[in-house]
Amino acid sequence: MTLLYLGLTLLLSALVLLFISSRQRRHAGLPGGRVIYTDTRSWGAVEKPLYDANLGLTGKPDYLVRQKEAILPVEVKTSRSPEAAYDSHIFQLAAYCLLVEKTYRKRPPYGIIHYPARDFAVDYTPDLENTLLDVLANIRRDEHRSQVKRSHEDGHRCQHCGYRTVCDQKLD
Ligand code: SF4
Repeated sequence: MTLLYLGLTLLLSALVLLFISSRQRRHAGLPGGRVIYTDTRSWGAVEKPLYDANLGLTGKPDYLVRQKEAILPVEVKTSRSPEAAYDSHIFQLAAYCLLVEKTYRKRPPYGIIHYPARDFAVDYTPDLENTLLDVLANIRRDEHRSQVKRSHEDGHRCQHCGYRTVCDQKLD
């Protein structure tokens, strides 16, 4: 039952983050990340998901990298490398930064999104954290609703969405 709950939390989190990420980014002026070089040899695989009971949040970054005193989450994406990190990927990484801070009592200064052709460092700023906390509050509010309105007019996003077959608000 606990596993089911965790899985459901992840599913809802991913869904709602995708719904509202572009709107939140516009409001928050989120950075798209800065291109960096990373040495993948220092990346360590994460064995267990990180979990914070107070926020009802769980997630497993692909890697953690230790740099001096800092622990940085790394999220690996296999999609085409964009000019700036995608909003939904930034929020996912921010959630990992939050979970790293809760788990290890060390606040990551930034996290890394790894695309096939380039890596982005995304600063884990107080603004990004606050926006993420707003997103999580919205998730908690919306997860008890039978209907959550679509927050975008992006048909391309709907065409590639994994929830398309069950979504009654998809765009053609
Ligand atoms: S199909 Fe479109 S509206 Fe529905 S969840 Fe996916 S992106 Fe959102």
